[in-house]
Amino acid sequence: MPEIKTQDFSAASVKAMLNPQLQRALNRVGSGFDVARLSAIEEVTPEVWDRWRQEARDIKVHTIEHLDYYLDLLHTNVTAAGGHLHFAKDADQANEIVAHIARTRNVKVATKSKSMVSEELGLNPVLESMGVDVYETDLGEYIIQLADETPSHLVAPALHKSKEDVAELFTEKLGIPYDDDIYHMAATARTVLRDKFMEADLGISGANFVVAETGSLVIITNEGNGRLCTSAPRIHIGITGMEKVIPSMQDLSVFLRLLPRSATGQRITSYVSIITGPRRDDDEDGPEEFHLVLVDNGRSRLLADPALRESLYCIRCGACLNICPVYQRVGGHAYGWVYPGPIGAVVSPMLVGLPKAKELPQASSLCGACREACPIKIDIPRMLLDLRKKTAESPDKSQRSAPQIERTMARLYAGLMSRPRLLRVAVGFGRFLQKLERVMPFSPLTKDRKWIRNAPLPPLSKWTRSRDLPTLPKQTFHEIWEKELSGGPRDRS
Ligand code: SF4
Repeated sequence: MPEIKTQDFSAASVKAMLNPQLQRALNRVGSGFDVARLSAIEEVTPEVWDRWRQEARDIKVHTIEHLDYYLDLLHTNVTAAGGHLHFAKDADQANEIVAHIARTRNVKVATKSKSMVSEELGLNPVLESMGVDVYETDLGEYIIQLADETPSHLVAPALHKSKEDVAELFTEKLGIPYDDDIYHMAATARTVLRDKFMEADLGISGANFVVAETGSLVIITNEGNGRLCTSAPRIHIGITGMEKVIPSMQDLSVFLRLLPRSATGQRITSYVSIITGPRRDDDEDGPEEFHLVLVDNGRSRLLADPALRESLYCIRCGACLNICPVYQRVGGHAYGWVYPGPIGAVVSPMLVGLPKAKELPQASSLCGACREACPIKIDIPRMLLDLRKKTAESPDKSQRSAPQIERTMARLYAGLMSRPRLLRVAVGFGRFLQKLERVMPFSPLTKDRKWIRNAPLPPLSKWTRSRDLPTLPKQTFHEIWEKELSGGPRDRS
């Protein structure tokens, strides 16, 4: 697997927020993708959109609840179509399956279309260590391969780069004169990659869906590279997560309406490729061999957890990233692994292990925008809360995210809030301090008498460094209730 840096989320976020060029790039996320998504929804009407979302969710719920049945059916139908289905329990096994195919077929050059799962597995370095030249052929992926970086968005992997960055990169890596015209740069990449398509022995693709009833792999793209990768080389290997299976072609039609609109605001992408098995005798072209590698790599842990299982419904459209106020500020690399944004904050801790990613469930304001944007109605905030609960209550110290002092403060706060008499005394003391502050020549705590700006001692000072904490009101709710609403004081014991 690629290097996991999920434990550095806080430090990486601060760095990202201080990077003006990244901030300019991230501004495009909300104003570009999300505006396009909203106008695509308007076009079909919110009522129709909501019906499609519910249909898609129902299909996902049914499939994940009967995953063993649909995986068996998929196996039967991939084999019947002349292909080979491989199950890989982890990244090492998946990489070894692909490496074995490449080794035994004497593969020298491989072309790849976009596959987040292959990023998850760290497949490229494994093939390269065997002497196979691997070429990413999706334009965004090609850019980040040249830059030796990782994707920063599920749909737009090079979103963090400006056109000037790409022009400089092409000059440095391809030895061409600087030219930041986007069409010229795309044409350059096309020319370079065209030769690689012709040389490749092996084509590797991801899959947006795999259809159990026909054994088909479905790729939806906006560039023709997916078709060239899957049809020109003599061997095609599709790699995807085991949750990508759907029951039928009829079900596929629902997702084909939802995914492009949610991802890029398009009615449909430029290419929808449905691949079933290798070339048949009467086909003019296509691969001689077709392999499908279905990867678990921690997904069984999500499947076994009723609270987190619905994260497996994700179709990786990226809509939750585009709307997320945290992603919009820190970008994808701060999350430290392949899957960024709100859905990454749920799946990464379960795929890489909670001790390594316990900060990620905190990377959310819990505003609920991701749940509203998600075409599958995945309740991400609820799952983030569940993970926070796990990190707060775990008996395993390595999984706990809050330091001991914060846990002690939380316990004290809970004790105070559950003892009304004690709470009254504490409120009275707090008011006394606030009155004292008013007669002081300057205000160390409150600026405008509404918010506590700087609590004096840690850990409270750390808390108020990034949060507004309201000052005590003139009357608490209990006092208002007793004096004005309940008809008189009551026993508070
Ligand atoms: S969680 Fe929903 S919105 Fe986010 S990537 Fe997955 S399907 Fe798209």
